[in-house]
Amino acid sequence: MLKTLRAKIIVAFVAIVVGIVTLLLVSFNYIVVEQLKLQLAEELKKEINLIELSLIDVDNNKFNDHLSNLRSLSQQLNYNVILLDNNNNPIFEFYSDTSNINRDYDVEFLRRTGKYVIEIRRYKNDERNFLVVSKSVDVNLIDKLSAKISLITIESDLQGIENFSNNVRFKIIVAALILFVFGLIVIRYFTNRVTSPINKIIETLKDYSKTGTPQLIENVGSQELKFLIDSINSLMKKIESDMNELRKLERYRSEFLGNVSHELRTPIFSIQSYLETLIDGGINDPEINIKYLKKAYENLERLNRLLSDLIDISQIETKQMRMSFRYFQINDLIQKVIDDLKILSEQKEIQIDFEKDENLEGMVWGDRERLYQVFYNLIENSIRHNPAKTVVRVYYQKFNSTLRIFIEDNGIGIPEEDLPRIFERFYRVNKERSRESGGTGLGLSIVKHIVEAHESKIYVESKLGEGTKFYFDLKIA
Ligand code: ADP
Repeated sequence: MLKTLRAKIIVAFVAIVVGIVTLLLVSFNYIVVEQLKLQLAEELKKEINLIELSLIDVDNNKFNDHLSNLRSLSQQLNYNVILLDNNNNPIFEFYSDTSNINRDYDVEFLRRTGKYVIEIRRYKNDERNFLVVSKSVDVNLIDKLSAKISLITIESDLQGIENFSNNVRFKIIVAALILFVFGLIVIRYFTNRVTSPINKIIETLKDYSKTGTPQLIENVGSQELKFLIDSINSLMKKIESDMNELRKLERYRSEFLGNVSHELRTPIFSIQSYLETLIDGGINDPEINIKYLKKAYENLERLNRLLSDLIDISQIETKQMRMSFRYFQINDLIQKVIDDLKILSEQKEIQIDFEKDENLEGMVWGDRERLYQVFYNLIENSIRHNPAKTVVRVYYQKFNSTLRIFIEDNGIGIPEEDLPRIFERFYRVNKERSRESGGTGLGLSIVKHIVEAHESKIYVESKLGEGTKFYFDLKIA
């Protein structure tokens, strides 16, 4: 029943208001009303003392005047004054109001209980409460009234005090009611400010769990709520970007699988058809047997290259490729790659110029084996993708705390629109030409990964018909 935040706040508020009002009423009663009664009692006591003294002191011939003074004073002050003798007969009675009250009370008790007796009394045929103060005295009025006065009683009705107290009580209750209504309005306003963003959050999260589509929530409410909504929104954004990343990965994966099977199928089919022709009698034909066997062998080599590139790519991408970093001589490494590519470059009559800088020490930080692969792929590309008699230049320059290494050719160049994509797996500018030249379409992708594992970046600049320049940085000693 009290599950919602608003219900809880309202119940707490009602409890607080009721508590405060009760406390106010009780303390008002005890502090103000009781105090007023005590004050009145004190006044009545003083009055009794004055009457007692005046009765003793007054001259015989002025006694009657004195009594009529007493009567008018009582009337003015609205007190009832009663003087009783030893036999409990009233010697003097004055009632400020005209109502006929049946005053039936225990005089002996009043005499017995000592000097003053103060009590609140209610008479049978009257609605009012009276504060009654009595004092047992011994005033000899034998010569004046042939009597002795032994008890003086003064009563004052409490209507004034009671009216005042009822009035104040009423005002406290009215003020509390106004406060209560106003409080409810304020609570409604503030709980709305808190609950409406919370409800929004709940709705959005429910919606998300139903549809699986992350949604952003409008950022309103108090600082804490804004912080909460901010956190949920950034979580939603993260989920969204993770989902996009997953979708992208999924797309890449299926594209990659499609590419791999296509790339594998081509050399396998070629080998199969050359072998079939040889089996079908071609083996005895000296015109084609060696040629076909060579072709089958070339395709096997291609298959082998493709598989080893695929293994490299998968190791790099699953972060399983182990790298071993150390300082080594870059000149030696580049020279080795050029030597290893000598046959290929000579076949295509392509000149490779390695411009060593004798002033630089040439010690770089990296994985020598993997960087061999980088130089090999880049220089081999410059040879394979370019026409005969072009030139490949390999050179480097000191660049901040790195060595910037360039592999530059003056070959066919790469069209501008293809440049951003050449590092993608299996992306080729000219598919047929690349395959014919023995490329797997994975070379630059492997280069990019290895260079990035060296906390560097590979750059390419190319102009169609003028040539291509690749460069990257390696840390130096
Ligand atoms: P491939 O096995 O086809 O060489 P790469 O990933 O190594 O695959 O290269 C991607 C494509 O970039 C190549 O197919 C080629 O079109 C282009 N390319 C790379 N290097 C050069 C270069 N030096 N000159 C011209 N085109 C190049």
